[in-house]
Amino acid sequence: MKNDNPVFEPVKVSAFDWQLAVVSQLVALNTQGKLPHAILVELRTSVDSRSFGWFLASALLCQSLDSEHPCGHCQSCQLMISNNYPDFTFSTLTENEKTHKLNKDIKIEQIRRLIHQFSLTNNLQSGKIALIYPAEKLNQSSANSLLKTLEEPSADSTLILLTHNAGRLPVTIRSRCQKWVIKNPPMDEASKWLAQKEMPSDQIKDYLHLARNDAQLAHQLYQLEFKLLQDQFSGLLNKYLSDQIDIVSMVKQFKFPDSQHLRLVLKTELSNMIYNLLQNKLTIALKQKLAGLINLSAGLDRALQVEDNNLNLLLQFEDVLISLKQIVK
Ligand SMILES: [Zn+2]
Repeated sequence: MKNDNPVFEPVKVSAFDWQLAVVSQLVALNTQGKLPHAILVELRTSVDSRSFGWFLASALLCQSLDSEHPCGHCQSCQLMISNNYPDFTFSTLTENEKTHKLNKDIKIEQIRRLIHQFSLTNNLQSGKIALIYPAEKLNQSSANSLLKTLEEPSADSTLILLTHNAGRLPVTIRSRCQKWVIKNPPMDEASKWLAQKEMPSDQIKDYLHLARNDAQLAHQLYQLEFKLLQDQFSGLLNKYLSDQIDIVSMVKQFKFPDSQHLRLVLKTELSNMIYNLLQNKLTIALKQKLAGLINLSAGLDRALQVEDNNLNLLLQFEDVLISLKQIVK
């Protein structure tokens, strides 16, 4: 049978050390035949975790596990690596055929395909696994359609919902899954890991702070030279707020990142401004400013929620800048 899982090239199967404890507990349950039909695994990172999803699924399917790691050589591992495992379904954000952009949610057709797969007889002994990632992107009809499967699980099948934010999943789904959380490594472990990734020691702490202790994100931001971007933004913003440049040239000169990083640039800037204000004796005027900045920061996720490369993102970015100027003036 042809496997039509969307492929991402190359199919990497990898996990970080701090993710392995949960993997080994799930593998142990699986070995004892006690793995629940539906598990919800929450990762506390915002970095793309498809590789980890494949790692976890491969670990559960591997016939000759090497500690917590899939061996890479058995029939199951080989089929997973080549994306040909017949009883494995991967539902993720797919590309829109016309625009070539990622769809913003996981479609009901994808969930129907998963349900159909679950209704078939196994091709191999290891059982069927369906992985949904990022599960918080299931739209309402997809989630409703999935509910039935959760209520009447088919034998020998495991549904893995992998998410960055379990709170964004409908409670009806959450309550039918066994929940696992993979936390980020503690500071010292994260610093060690980043040092191994050849990140200069004087930057590790700053980047971890910026990424709120999300080690993977800290590494990604470092690779993107995020601090340069942040500094550039701060410089331009100061000029804009003190009327040295107008909003058009501010936006024009700024090296525009994608929406996720733009949000982080703004959030970081706002939290620095809030921190600086708090160093002063709070007058009524300062308190008003503070409230304005906190509101603006809290509303950023809503204010900048369009896709990347979208003209609207630029307009929304300008709106945020205009609001910011009104607050600090
Ligand atoms: Zn194997």
